[in-house]
Amino acid sequence: MSIRLPQGIDTVFLDLDDTLFDYQTSSRLAVIDFAQMYAVEGDPTEILRRWYELEEEYFHQFELGHLSWRDQFFVRIALFLGIDESQEPALREAFQTFRDLYQSHWQAFSDAEPFIQRCLSADLRVGIITNGDPGMQVRKLRHIGISVDDDQVFASGSLGVAKPNPEIYRAACRAMGTCGNRAVMIGDNITRDYQGALDAGLHAILVQRDGCTVPHSIETLDDIIL
Ligand SMILES: [Mg+2]
Repeated sequence: MSIRLPQGIDTVFLDLDDTLFDYQTSSRLAVIDFAQMYAVEGDPTEILRRWYELEEEYFHQFELGHLSWRDQFFVRIALFLGIDESQEPALREAFQTFRDLYQSHWQAFSDAEPFIQRCLSADLRVGIITNGDPGMQVRKLRHIGISVDDDQVFASGSLGVAKPNPEIYRAACRAMGTCGNRAVMIGDNITRDYQGALDAGLHAILVQRDGCTVPHSIETLDDIIL
């Protein structure tokens, strides 16, 4: 199903992970490689289930501001590999190993950069609103060839507030010189991206790449008519 941008929009905000950047594929491949390298026992399904359970729990602690981005990663790796949290050098090495593996699998969705180019050609400004570490998120964007300037990337790790909190949307709108009814948020997460943006007064479009289950959502950015 195609969806047309509402009238009067001057700014398009996009989520990064699983909207422009294929987080699921990149991270799944990295976790399997990482588990093999550290001889983690279990079949791939079980290994992935454990990894994402830890991610769900500790990344949320980062979103809430209870742990730094680095610390939540260290805790997850310690629990995943069974390394004592006091073994800082071993944890640091494992962390770096995972990052290298993860980066080797980084990939964009094929509709990502073409969509951004369509927006720019239509004189729309484009920004990224993402829950994550600003350095990591900008590196991902550069690596996968997404044309958004660094000062148009709004990361929870630098703003001190995370989606779905409306404040992150308001801060991004202020920085881009726009306001809610002239901005649309496009993302894959119904709570953080879709409802969060609506609560802040923006328009919102939900991307469901594995198949639409929610009315008025889209499977690909190609389905957005500017
Ligand atoms: Mg996402």
